[in-house]
Amino acid sequence: MSKATDELFKNVISHAKEYGFVFQSSEIYDGLSAVYDYGQNGSELKNNIKTYWWKAMVQMHENIVGIDAAIFMHPTTWKASGHVDGFSDPMIDNKDSKKRYRADQLLEDRIAKYEAEGKTEKAAALQTAMDDALKAEDLPRLKELIIEQEIACPVSGTRNWTDVRQFNLMFSTQVGAIADESETIYLRPETAQGIFVNYLNVQKSGRMKIPFGIAQIGKAFRNEVIARQFIIRMREFEQMEMQFFVRPGTQKEWFNTWKENRLKWHLALGTPAEKYRYHEHTKLAHYADAAFDIEYNFPFGFKEVEGIHSRTDFDLSQHQQYSGKKMQYFDPEVDPETGKPFGNYIPYVIETSIGLDRMFLLTLINAYEEEDLSTDEKQDSRTVLRLPSVLAPVKAAIFPLTKKDGLPEKAREIMDKLKLDFNVQYEEKDAIGKRYRRQDAIGTPFCITVDHQTLEDNTVTIRYRDTMQQERVAADQLEKIIGDMVSWKSVLK
Ligand code: ATP
Repeated sequence: MSKATDELFKNVISHAKEYGFVFQSSEIYDGLSAVYDYGQNGSELKNNIKTYWWKAMVQMHENIVGIDAAIFMHPTTWKASGHVDGFSDPMIDNKDSKKRYRADQLLEDRIAKYEAEGKTEKAAALQTAMDDALKAEDLPRLKELIIEQEIACPVSGTRNWTDVRQFNLMFSTQVGAIADESETIYLRPETAQGIFVNYLNVQKSGRMKIPFGIAQIGKAFRNEVIARQFIIRMREFEQMEMQFFVRPGTQKEWFNTWKENRLKWHLALGTPAEKYRYHEHTKLAHYADAAFDIEYNFPFGFKEVEGIHSRTDFDLSQHQQYSGKKMQYFDPEVDPETGKPFGNYIPYVIETSIGLDRMFLLTLINAYEEEDLSTDEKQDSRTVLRLPSVLAPVKAAIFPLTKKDGLPEKAREIMDKLKLDFNVQYEEKDAIGKRYRRQDAIGTPFCITVDHQTLEDNTVTIRYRDTMQQERVAADQLEKIIGDMVSWKSVLK
């Protein structure tokens, strides 16, 4: 990370705290590593991102429905899904500092270092060696690479490493009051399984016909070995996932459709296309026959925000086997090749899985700007969040010019009308200029000022966040002006 981008990232993190977007969890007790809370503006922004996703996926598709499954699930779910045996990361400890690291991340950091130094051949060779070792689950080879590369622990500075071991990422707890009599259950590490176990319920009760999708937004938990980069890698986070059930043999086509569709969703927010790229998985998960990530160029480099996975019929077949319940679908459509119905099969699945917290962070970073407003006469600047209006936590702020002459009452009267449709804020403290700056800092697209003229002709000034232009409009027009700008029509197609 260059000095400037490092600085930018630090500024975004402190801005997020100062303006009520993200706080460290239980901060008064010095925090809990890799757990964060969303503040008054953060939770609004997060909710708006969720709404955007839900509308785009569920409301805009007749054949996609949404559910809300519980976090706790029957323990056999995780046996069937392969998570009990296989959901682990290779880890290594430094014997001197007693610090634990993900072996693949130590190597990835070295690759990034080579790339930054322009040593692209070395970077590529190490990448291949690491990918091969991961694919073969060859843990001794991973250690060998760490030794060969002379990677030292950043804390102790020594190369005194343990062997590489697998570490399961699922959190477990007990149900029931007495530990002995209870069973171990897990906090779900992904929301997807809540969809798979409800596949039959939804298909039957909703009379769903293939192809169809089930969408869900919810918390997931992973005991990540190391926590880094703010809300990029958390132990408790939120996912927005959709499983799309298709006829076997059509999965490639649907995979490509969803791959394109999902990138369009990101770009509709106005984010520059060059900030995004696709990354194809070389090491496929045990259930996948194709996988692409959508990556965003964060200040610390490209990182996965969303995964598009072709999961075959792995999950439903496993659940059929472990539960003894038939997961088959009868497809009455006639196969033109045989002239007979496609008949019974277990559907294949295309999954789109986006991390809400990573989406939140990229939205914040992309919107953040320290703008120099200096003129020949005076130095001036502002920090502005150029958030898409649909996502802004507060849509409009209403200011009486002064605290007297009936202006606060008039401002509140306008606000009372607007708050039925929009999240609006009332502010009367400090000079107008200061109030503008506070709203710029949280990304409010409109500031409305009520002055003495308002009492005479019911007009107000409306000031636009991005251009800082002001114009006088009839107060009765506000609902329409704001409504047009924050309409979901601007991003949904
Ligand atoms: P990574 O390789 O970065 O650990 P992953 O490949 O394990 O991610 P998936 O299992 O595909 O991630 O999960 C889907 C999405 O959930 C990811 O694209 C990411 O946005 C999000 N996600 C996964 N793990 C975390 C985490 N620990 N904290 C925040 N978001 C996460």
